[in-house]
Amino acid sequence: MDLLKTELKYLPGVGPKRAQLLKDELGLETWEDLLYYFPYRYIDRSKFYKVEELDKELPYIQIKGQFTHFELTTISRNSKKLTGYFADETGIVEIVWFKGINWIKDAISRNNEYVIFGKPKLFGSKINIVHPDIEEYNKWQKQLASNLYPQYNTTEKLKQSFINSKAIQKLCDNLLKQVKGKISETLPPYFREKYRLKGIGETLVQLHFPADTKELAAAQYRIKFEELFYIQLNLQQIKRRRKQSSTGFVFDRSKDNLLKECFFKKIPFELTNAQKRVLQEIRKDLSSGKQMNRLLQGDVGSGKTLVALLTMLMAVDNGFQACIMAPTEILAQQHYKSVSKFLEGLNVKVDILTGSTKKKEREAIYKGLKAGELNILIGTHALIEDKVEFFNLGLVIIDEQHKFGVEQRAKLWEKNESTPHILVMTATPIPRTLAMTLYGDLDISVIDELPPGRSKIITRAFKDKDVLKVFGFIKKQIELGRQIYVVFPLISESENMDYKDLEDGVEGFSRAFPRPKYQISVVHGRMKPAEKEFSMKMFVDKITQIMIATTVIEVGVDVPNASVMIIESAERFGLSQLHQLRGRVGRGTDQSYCILMTGDKLSENAYERIMTMVNTNDGFEIAETDLRLRGPGDIEGKQQSGFAFDLKMANLSQDGQLVQYVKDIAASILDKDPELSSDDNHIMSIVIRKMNAGKVDLGQIS
Ligand code: ADP
Ligand code: MG
Repeated sequence: MDLLKTELKYLPGVGPKRAQLLKDELGLETWEDLLYYFPYRYIDRSKFYKVEELDKELPYIQIKGQFTHFELTTISRNSKKLTGYFADETGIVEIVWFKGINWIKDAISRNNEYVIFGKPKLFGSKINIVHPDIEEYNKWQKQLASNLYPQYNTTEKLKQSFINSKAIQKLCDNLLKQVKGKISETLPPYFREKYRLKGIGETLVQLHFPADTKELAAAQYRIKFEELFYIQLNLQQIKRRRKQSSTGFVFDRSKDNLLKECFFKKIPFELTNAQKRVLQEIRKDLSSGKQMNRLLQGDVGSGKTLVALLTMLMAVDNGFQACIMAPTEILAQQHYKSVSKFLEGLNVKVDILTGSTKKKEREAIYKGLKAGELNILIGTHALIEDKVEFFNLGLVIIDEQHKFGVEQRAKLWEKNESTPHILVMTATPIPRTLAMTLYGDLDISVIDELPPGRSKIITRAFKDKDVLKVFGFIKKQIELGRQIYVVFPLISESENMDYKDLEDGVEGFSRAFPRPKYQISVVHGRMKPAEKEFSMKMFVDKITQIMIATTVIEVGVDVPNASVMIIESAERFGLSQLHQLRGRVGRGTDQSYCILMTGDKLSENAYERIMTMVNTNDGFEIAETDLRLRGPGDIEGKQQSGFAFDLKMANLSQDGQLVQYVKDIAASILDKDPELSSDDNHIMSIVIRKMNAGKVDLGQIS
C-alpha cells in the first residue's frame, strides 16, 4: 500500500471531522494531496512594517503591536462588522472582520502583543487590513527557524473550524514527519543529476518550510520542471504510438473530382499561401495511411471554413462521409450556408442537423446518413446523439474546439469501427506554449495570413461620456450605407442586471436613432430561436441598419456590409472575446471600425486589454497577452481541454521557455527509449501509467 494514499483522517491532528472538511472545502483527501497542497505565498518574516509605513501598494506584510479596543457595527439586518484598533509605537490601524466575530473577540486579549499578517487596503481614505492571520508574538518567536512564512489558502468555513493557514502548516509539519524518508522519487537519479533537480523529499520539505529563498526557488523549479516534463512525455508518447500503430483511411489524390470541380468552378478567389500550405499538410496526412489528428489554428476570417470544405471534399471524393460539428446553432447554420453555396450544382448531398431540426426532416437525415446517400452533415451537438449513424464516416471536423467537452467529441468517432480522420479548428489562436501543453499530441497547422484586400480594422476606445461623438460617427457611417453592430455584455444569460444593460441600451439607441429613418434589430439569448432568426434576417437583408445584441453574435454572423462594431462596457470582456467580436466586421471591402466604450475609471488590467485591442489586430499577439493577463488559473477551456492535468506550480504564461525546454528533453528521451522500458527510465513509465490511470483514453482525445 502506498503510504501517500493514506486518508487524511489518519494523520495526527486531523480525524474524521476535519478530514471531511478538508475534502469538501479544498478537495484534499490523501496524504499526497496535502503534501502537494503548496503555500500560495511566503511572507518575509524578517521584516516588521510600522503602522505609519502601511500603504495600499504593499503586498502581504506583517506588523507587530497590541489591540487597544474593539468596535462592533451593524451593517445590515444579518451582517456585522468588527473593527479592532491595532497600535504600534507609530500609530493605529484598523483591523476588520465580517465573519467569525465572536470568536475573535473572545480569543484576543488586549494585553498581549500580536503579529498580524495581511494585505493593507485602502478603504475610503484610510488603510485597513481585512481578515488577517493573527499570532501571539511570543508564539511567533518560538516558531520556525526560517524567515519565510508560508501562507496556505483556506476558506471561511475552514477558518470557522479553526483550520486557518497556520493550522494547515501544522498539519504539513506532522505529515512531513510521518513520511520522512519514505516518499518515492518520481524522477530517475541520472535525470535529476543531469538537469540539477532536487530530490522529491527535500523538495517537498522546502516548499512547506523553506530554509531561504534560494532553496525555495530550487524546490519550485523541480516541481515545475517535473510537471511540465511529464505532460510533454505523456503527450509525445501518445502521439508517437498513434502514428506508429493507428491505421487511417487512405484518401487518394487521384480520386479528386468534386474537389477540382468546386475549386475551379465555385471558388471565385485565389487561396492564400497559408491556406495552400495547410491543405498540403492535411493532404499528406490523409494519404499517409495513418489517422489524422490535426489542429487547425487561424485568426477570425482567415478562411478556415474553406479549408474545412475542401478537406471534406477529399473524403467525399474517396467515397466517405464527412461531418462538421459546431458549438452553436447559428454557427452550424452559417457553415451550412457557406458550404452549400460553394457546392451548389455539384453532385454532393449536404444537410444540417441541429436541435431545432423538425422530426420529419430528422428521420430523413438519419435514413440518408445510414444508407450513405448523404455525403456531408453539418450540425451541433445533435450529431452525437445515438440515433445518428453514419454509413462510413471518414472525416470529422470540429469547429471551435474549446466549446465541446472531451467525452462529447469522443462520442463522434466512436460511431465508426475505424477512427475517422479528425480536424479540430479553433476560432481563436492559442499561444504557443499553451498549444504545446493542451494539444501536444496533435499536429498543428496554422493559417497566419488573411485573404488579401482586407483593410485593417481601426480600433478606438471611448469613454461613455463621449457617447454623442460616437452617435455622430454611427450616423455618418449609416449615411454611407453601412451597418452597425452594438454589443452589450451579458455574461450569464440569467443575470437580470446585464439584461437591463441591453434594455437600457436599446432605449438609448432608439431615442438617438428614431424610426422611421433608422431601424434597429435586437438579438439576445432569451429570445425564441424564431424571433432571433427573424431579427438577424432583417439585418442581413439590410432592412435594419443597427443590430443591438449580446454576445450571441460572437460566433458566426457574417454580414460583409456591417463595418462598425461598437462594444459597450468593453472593460467587462476578456481579450479573446473582444477580438472575436471585432472579427464580425472587416469582412467586406469597406474600411471597418471597432469602437470600445468604457466607463471612466479602468483597472490596470482592463486598461491593458483595451490598449492591446487598440494597438493590434494580430490574433496570436492578442492570445499571448490574454494568457499573460489572465494568468494560469483562468484559461478558458482548460477544464474542457480533455487533459486531466492540473498544474500545481508551473504557470503557462510565465514558464514558456521551460515548456519548450522540457519538450525537447522529452523528445530526446523517447527517441532513444520510445517505450521507456530501460531500467533507467522505469520510474518514468510508472509515473506516466499513474497519470493516465482511470482517465479517458488520451489517444482518443483530440
Ligand atoms: P474563418 O472560418 O477562418 O473565420 P472563413 O472561412 O469564414 O474564415 O472566411 C472568411 C471570409 O473570407 C469568407 O467570406 C470566405 O469566403 C472568405 N475567404 C476565404 N478564403 C479566401 C481567400 N483565399 N480569398 C478571399 N476570400 C476568402
Ligand atoms: Mg469560421
